[in-house]
Formats: sequence, structure tokens, C-alpha cells
Amino acid sequence: MKKIGVLALQGAFVEHLALLRRLDVAAFPIRLPRELEGLDGLVIPGGESTTIGRLMREYDLMAPLSSLCNDGFPIMGTCAGMILLARRVSDINIEPLGAMDIEVKRNASGRQVDSFETDLEIPAIGEPPFHGVFIRAPFIERAGDGVAVLAQLPDGTGVAARQGNMLALAFHPELTDDLRLHSYFLSIVNGDRKR
Ligand code: GLN
Repeated sequence: MKKIGVLALQGAFVEHLALLRRLDVAAFPIRLPRELEGLDGLVIPGGESTTIGRLMREYDLMAPLSSLCNDGFPIMGTCAGMILLARRVSDINIEPLGAMDIEVKRNASGRQVDSFETDLEIPAIGEPPFHGVFIRAPFIERAGDGVAVLAQLPDGTGVAARQGNMLALAFHPELTDDLRLHSYFLSIVNGDRKR
């Protein structure tokens, strides 16, 4: 059985753990560097990127997470997790991991009241559209050549991207009952979906 960690410093980690367990993987909350050992993949959840980033530094997780990203370790970042994976983030006072060649605009959809839900066409997971829950979501402003944008809003704004074994989602699949994006991530973990 594959072992998937969910970074459990702050944010929506409980929801990710519950959803992963429905997919028959062993899912563990991760807080310390040594807990990363032996994992097959990691989820960085949504929450508050400045808080998660600050705690990642405090718990000495920055260096081990950076080297895992460089080594092609499968990582999925949702919302704040996407912000933390990005190479550049506008409007942030912490250093992101810089693992994915994407530039991200933080709080792009404005304040909490501006959060929204919309159906997204995501060819990588097929039909039907995926119900995207956006909560003070970051948007992808620029994606490098090695990055595949997997989903866009009607105006073309990128909201999901993959680079190698890393997956970044601007929205919250863990707050829906749709397991397809977690399954997609697990197919990356299993090496079934190379790119
Ligand atoms: N806007 C938040 C941040 O900057 C992310 C919101 C979320 O993860 N739902 O961290």
C-alpha cells in the first residue's frame, strides 16, 4: 500500500487525509522532517500560505522538501499549497519552495467574500467537469515551458498545473466528494502517468 503524507502544520489537512484513505492508501499527517522518510508522495494543503510557510521554516522542513521536489518526488499542492510550490508569488512576505516554474498571484480572487465555485473542464481526468471550490484562491499568472496547465477559468486564467511529478491546484478538491484529482495524483505516485 502506498504511503502518502499530508503536511499537517495548518489548514485543510484533515480533509485530505480522509479523502486519501477512501482511495486505499495509507495517509499520514506530517509535521517533522523525519516523518517524510518512506513516503511515496506528499500533499501540501490549503490554508494560509504565510502561516504554513513560516511553520515549514520553523520545523526545518524547507530544505528536505526542496530536495524532494528536485528529486522528482510526487507532491500535490492545493491553494496555499500551490502558492508554496511556486517559483514566484506576488504579495507574499515568505519564501516559497520555488519548486514549480509557475508565477502565482496570491488572493487573486480577492477577499473571503469573493470566493466562488465553478465547474472546470479538466481533460487529464476526463468528463464530467470537476466542481472547483475556490477560497481566496491564487491564480497562475505565468507557467514555464515545462509546465502543463491542466485547467483554466473561462477567461483563460490557469488554475491547475503539472510539472513532472508535481501537481498544483488553485482550488480545493478535498472539500468535494469527487476523488478524481486525488486519484490522478496517485496515478503519478504509481508512475502510471509520466510526462
Ligand atoms: N489566499 C490564501 C493564502 O494566501 C490561500 C487560501 C486557501 O488556501 N484557501 O494562503
